[in-house]
Amino acid sequence: MERVYNFSAGPACLPIEVLKQAQDDFISYGNSGMNVMEMSHRSKEYQDIIDTAEADLRDLMNIPDNYSVLFLQGGASLQFAMVPLNLMTKYKKAHFVKTGQWAKKAIEQAKKFGEANVVASSEDKTFSYIPQLNADMFTPDADYVHITSNNTIYGTRFTKLPPVGDLPLVSDMSSCILSEEINVADYALIYAGAQKNIGPAGVTIVIIRNDLIGHAPDSVPTMLNYKTYADNGSMFNTPPTYAIYIAGLVFKHLKKLGGVGEMEKINKEKAAMLYEFIDNSPLFQATVEPKYRSLMNVPFITGSEELDKEFVAGAKKAGLVNLKGHRSVGGMRASIYNAMPESGVRELIAYMAKFEAEHK
Ligand SMILES: *Cc1c(COP(=O)(O)O)cnc(C)c1O
Repeated sequence: MERVYNFSAGPACLPIEVLKQAQDDFISYGNSGMNVMEMSHRSKEYQDIIDTAEADLRDLMNIPDNYSVLFLQGGASLQFAMVPLNLMTKYKKAHFVKTGQWAKKAIEQAKKFGEANVVASSEDKTFSYIPQLNADMFTPDADYVHITSNNTIYGTRFTKLPPVGDLPLVSDMSSCILSEEINVADYALIYAGAQKNIGPAGVTIVIIRNDLIGHAPDSVPTMLNYKTYADNGSMFNTPPTYAIYIAGLVFKHLKKLGGVGEMEKINKEKAAMLYEFIDNSPLFQATVEPKYRSLMNVPFITGSEELDKEFVAGAKKAGLVNLKGHRSVGGMRASIYNAMPESGVRELIAYMAKFEAEHK
């Protein structure tokens, strides 16, 4: 079977170079005589793998020294609870911008531990935009502000920072981490499940400013306390060793490509090509206002559920898979993360043009 172009929102495609490297290493990693999966996490070989992965991520994102990089499990969904457990310590309150299903889930979890104050929402228009935010929404009587930088399901993204003043800013970057350059110091905590833009499911990355570590109440379980991970190099217990190894390969691959700046350029080209085609199409429409459009997830519709269905089925036959939109939005969604090559986007556009011509 030939490889397909996989537009899945996650788990998503990985760079072919990374898969080939993993294949080369499969039976014996280096001189170890074993697969990374079979290796003790306490071995020198594995320590090198996790240390190199962290160093490469720090390099790629220019992570300042006063931030820790943690490798966790439980997905971004566990962070919805871990963030309030560790950070809602003084006011027992946090501000949220409600921009989609994932933001909603973060809010639901935070409510279990304190007050989750929604400062703004775009729910009135099916989350098709990012609400206008101003400084007086972010009253200082909160422990932090939470945003979802890229809304995977609806295809919107924050293009500027919310005016949070001195409040710590927390962002769920699961579907946009490493897709464009950001200034880590603008954030107090960044988290991301790996399976969209980093690697396989099973590892979640947390980048946290060190002064926010160590304030969790004693009642917080050891495994839900960031301090446990920070003090033990993410190896208090067995980390998701293989997922971290693949993430490390992805980081190396990205560095070889020229880093996040170069990736951002390519991502902007890919997204621009696709949006431009949709905007000029008599058949397809984008569902998001231009200024809020995601570079990673591109939802679009024909306006007819039947045609949408036919489109998705035909695309699959043409080797363009997982284009069905999220069940809450319908239509189509093309997820074009870092690992989706430009050729995949071109093929998608060619198929769309053909479909359009056949349905005039
Ligand atoms: C996919 C996704 C999640 C959920 O991630 P899990 O790792 O499955 O818990 C959370 N937030 C965003 C923005 C996502 O795209």
